[in-house]
Amino acid sequence: MDLNCTDQSVFFGTSGSGDYLVRQLARMEGSRILCVTGRESYRRSGAAGLMADAMKTHATCRFSEFSTNPVLDELLVGLVCFRNFSPDCMVAVGGGSVLDMAKLINFFGSTQMDPQKYLHRAAPEMEGNLLPMIAIPTTAGTGSEATRFSVLYKDKTKYSVEHPSMLPDVVILNPGLTESMSPYQAACCGFDAFSQAVESYWAVGSTERSRKYSAKAISLCMQHLEGAVLKSTIEHRRGMMEAAHLAGKAINIAKTTAAHALSYTLTSHYGLPHGHAVAMMLPWVFELNAAVQELDLNDPRGMGFVGPRMDELCAMLHCGSADDVARFLQRLAFRIGLDGAWVGGSGADIAEIRSSMVDHANMERMGNNPRRFVRVDLQRIASHIR
Ligand SMILES: [Zn+2]
Repeated sequence: MDLNCTDQSVFFGTSGSGDYLVRQLARMEGSRILCVTGRESYRRSGAAGLMADAMKTHATCRFSEFSTNPVLDELLVGLVCFRNFSPDCMVAVGGGSVLDMAKLINFFGSTQMDPQKYLHRAAPEMEGNLLPMIAIPTTAGTGSEATRFSVLYKDKTKYSVEHPSMLPDVVILNPGLTESMSPYQAACCGFDAFSQAVESYWAVGSTERSRKYSAKAISLCMQHLEGAVLKSTIEHRRGMMEAAHLAGKAINIAKTTAAHALSYTLTSHYGLPHGHAVAMMLPWVFELNAAVQELDLNDPRGMGFVGPRMDELCAMLHCGSADDVARFLQRLAFRIGLDGAWVGGSGADIAEIRSSMVDHANMERMGNNPRRFVRVDLQRIASHIR
């Protein structure tokens, strides 16, 4: 098969996904599968059962020795596994971190590029094709199965590794696999998808196509996010799985913006889960972005373009004004268990967290925000950390 194809085959449903997996593996003519999976979640989610038939007919090696938020040292262990086992296809089963790790192992393993050199921009042009990859998310969140990039942390700094060939070839979306998520995990993952949908809508990198994905994802989140966390019915989990995938497709084109850029420090330095960190940023970023003016506009398409997009966002969120949106987002986060007063309970020093957030904001993603934030804007957002 064409290892560099940019289109994906997507299966979406609760039954028949095991058979689909077996068929896709047969199509890939692979005989040795490197499975990158979570540890506990692999069994708990039911993914191990889904993989059972495929494993009967293929030689498999499972790599799961890594933590949430992939770090460089763990990637290097994964690459040893890749070299020793010499797979001819890959299956990634798990949450966003697992899918990201699998994409990184495939990228650096197949091209034999040195990740350390790559992070310091000293890597040569890419050579070689990536192995075919099947991605099976067990959370409804990052949409990593629909993107050509992966997050990688080194020394608590967040990097994005990006290449079109990193997009998985086949995706299996089975909402049944998300049933074992805890309400808090469902809230973090779901709010991440929601924020990605909103941010990609106003992103400088947005296109008409990406905004269609974003709009559909926002609409699904409005219908299903709260229910997926508080009721966890199959209908709501199905809605959120579709939303997360569409938000992934949207950020694959448009990328994320200031809410994500500001959130990474809370995750890498203070251990706050990604979706929770993003939920604490989005209301205030929304408020500032809605007040964008010619003077601080980042988007070359001008105010005539950005203004109506912000109005459309307010309408999609069923709010009359940006102030209403900020309040709505805050309340929604609170209702699904993403406490805005997280620092108070963590024992961390609030002043230190606020200044660290401002000092370490990811400027690459900040440049994709419709409004150019200056230090005082960042301080204003950080002041809401409680
Ligand atoms: Zn995210």
